[in-house]
Amino acid sequence: MELSIEQKKTLKGQGYICSKDGIHFSCRVVIPAGRMNAQETRKIVEVSEKYGRGYFTLTQRLNVQIPWVQYQDLENVTRELKEVGLSIGGTGMRVRPAHTCKGNICAMGLFDTEDVTGKIDERFYKGFYDVKLPNKFRIEVSGCGNGCTKPLLGCISLQGRKPDQVAIVIGGMSGKNQVIGKELPGLYSISEALDIIEKAISYYRENGIQGERFAQTVERIGFETVSNNM
Ligand code: SF4
Repeated sequence: MELSIEQKKTLKGQGYICSKDGIHFSCRVVIPAGRMNAQETRKIVEVSEKYGRGYFTLTQRLNVQIPWVQYQDLENVTRELKEVGLSIGGTGMRVRPAHTCKGNICAMGLFDTEDVTGKIDERFYKGFYDVKLPNKFRIEVSGCGNGCTKPLLGCISLQGRKPDQVAIVIGGMSGKNQVIGKELPGLYSISEALDIIEKAISYYRENGIQGERFAQTVERIGFETVSNNM
């Protein structure tokens, strides 16, 4: 079946990414906080063998991609992954699942990064799923100053500085062009940080120009002005 460019674009926004050959798809499986249990892992292996070519890959942001899936099998892949609570997604012009480090078990971790990432995903990835933004919006979570998730390159990032207190960086970007984000003054509790993430998303939705990344919005309007609205 020949799909139009528009149909492929829609599918990409839902987590089904058309391959170079124009026929197969990579299914992006959301792995909350990069953590897969044994049952989920077995299902991913099973689905990869049944509908793909028997392997899967990891994305830079700790999600899974199952390549070589045919268009007619996309629904089956989605249904079978759902049996163990997994979903396809993590793409599109919306808040993306947060990318986190292992701060919950790492000796350097200053807060429970897995728990905080769960709260972020629940509130902003799932909660804002139908909220269309000017472009993707990435959240990085790092448990300490080592910044293993590259917090300076996130739209907004939390970085542990003291036990349960985080610094917040806004306006970073990775991709073809890179922008180093800047830190808001002060340190914040986790609950304050989550409220600031919400303000940043709302600000971006209201002030960003279509196609513009949040870093570009911050650059265009000015860090001082944007940070005064956080
Ligand atoms: S950012 Fe810090 S807490 Fe997180 S994994 Fe790296 S060293 Fe550990």
